Amino acid sequence: DALVRTEIAARTRHEPVVSPTGWPPVRDRYDVMIVGAGFAGAVMAERLAADGGKRVLVVDRRPHVAGNAFDHKDEAGILIHQYGPHIFHTNSADIFEYLSRFTEWRPYEHRVLADVDGQLVPMPINRTTLNLLYGLDLKTEEEAAAFLASRAEPVEPVRTSADVVISAVGRELYETFFQGYTRKQWGMDPSELDKSVTARVPTRTNVDDRYFTDKFQAMPAEGFTRMFERMLDHPNIDLLLGVDYADVREAYPHDHLVFTGPIDEYFGHRYGKLPYRSLRFEHRTLDAEQHQPVAVVNYPNEAVPYTRVTEYKHLTGQVAERTSLTFEYPSATGDPYYPIPRDENQALYKRYEALALAEPNVSFVGRLATYRYYNMDQVVGQALATYRRLSATLAERAAE
Ligand code: FAD
Ligand code: UDP
Repeated sequence: DALVRTEIAARTRHEPVVSPTGWPPVRDRYDVMIVGAGFAGAVMAERLAADGGKRVLVVDRRPHVAGNAFDHKDEAGILIHQYGPHIFHTNSADIFEYLSRFTEWRPYEHRVLADVDGQLVPMPINRTTLNLLYGLDLKTEEEAAAFLASRAEPVEPVRTSADVVISAVGRELYETFFQGYTRKQWGMDPSELDKSVTARVPTRTNVDDRYFTDKFQAMPAEGFTRMFERMLDHPNIDLLLGVDYADVREAYPHDHLVFTGPIDEYFGHRYGKLPYRSLRFEHRTLDAEQHQPVAVVNYPNEAVPYTRVTEYKHLTGQVAERTSLTFEYPSATGDPYYPIPRDENQALYKRYEALALAEPNVSFVGRLATYRYYNMDQVVGQALATYRRLSATLAERAAE
């Protein structure tokens, strides 16, 4: 038994498997199988193994851990994020402390500029943005607030992603910064999206040009992937990479399943497909030390096909002669990255959630499995809470 497990661990942790075909059937039993090695799956695995003493098998169809937070060195030796820029931020000391068990941090505060017809201005909109854009000299928060109030168009009730912005800054600034970007990013007008989407981005009357104001803002010192490797490095955890759940669900008996993939896929799209938005990432390396003044430049103009450009050296502090960038092109097809927040999608999700609630031996965790537009820290918080509930349930079952 132990030998077989060691063998799986040895094979899988260091040499990602491309296909499970040809594998001898492993007649081992796991307490828990976990589908997905992203934040949701890795936190569940770490807690179940290290705190709960459970034997866990983690399966991911991608050939690497870390899910969408995966980073690695590209051909130029620059640490890049394969699936677009990931910046860690949270207000929760508990979540920050939990992750701090697996990584040191590099202090980093994210700053974003928007390219408005070639002029780079701070995003979120702040007093500097207004002064630059309109050639003004607004000196106080009160002056900036009065300027915005003179342009804001009251909307009652505030329901959509257009309403939120127009009621705060008026139609012109809405069109400049939000309408085109959102149409590109989501393939629909902001008026068709729940208000929660653009409400992620605040409007400021001060000159704070940070993208986030959370108490904790930092990047894992050696990258996200290294942090995940440490989380998953436990004798109770085996890892199968490059393997789809559908191909191994029967091969590895387990008492409980944690599923972090798309919930509609788990149920065979029984009620139809849940919409997810995708992106195509174009990674480029330039023969220049620096390309842009900050990590991310947003392109709100609808005529530009990408939404934003990331230059990783700003995030990581890496020093090199060359620099690597990622251009994000939104797409209707491809890997599911974003649940699309609108009422009809939520209603469809609720039907799948009802099926999920009727499966006592499966926990659904994470952005795809609970169809929530969650940041990394929210997924960690959700997984920690799910683990607490699950460990109580497993203890009750064991006592029966
Ligand atoms: P995922 O990371 O998607 O992991 C799910 C895993 O399950 C995947 O690796 C997938 O391959 C695997 N899987 C699915 N189905 C199967 C199957 N059938 N068999 C085997 N494996 C399967 N958050 C922030 O906090 N800050 C940011 O700056 C930030 N930037 C982002 C930028 C982009 C472009 C995107 C798309 C997201 C960003 N996020 C950011 C959000 C962050 O990526 C997510 O909150 C987090 O990664 C979700 O973790 P997860 O485990 O739920 O899902
Ligand atoms: N948004 C926008 N213009 C911007 C930045 C954001 O219109 O310059 C809108 C857009 O709809 C986007 C949403 O606000 O999808 C949330 O932005 P955020 O930067 O949080 O998106 P994420 O990093 O999750 O892709």
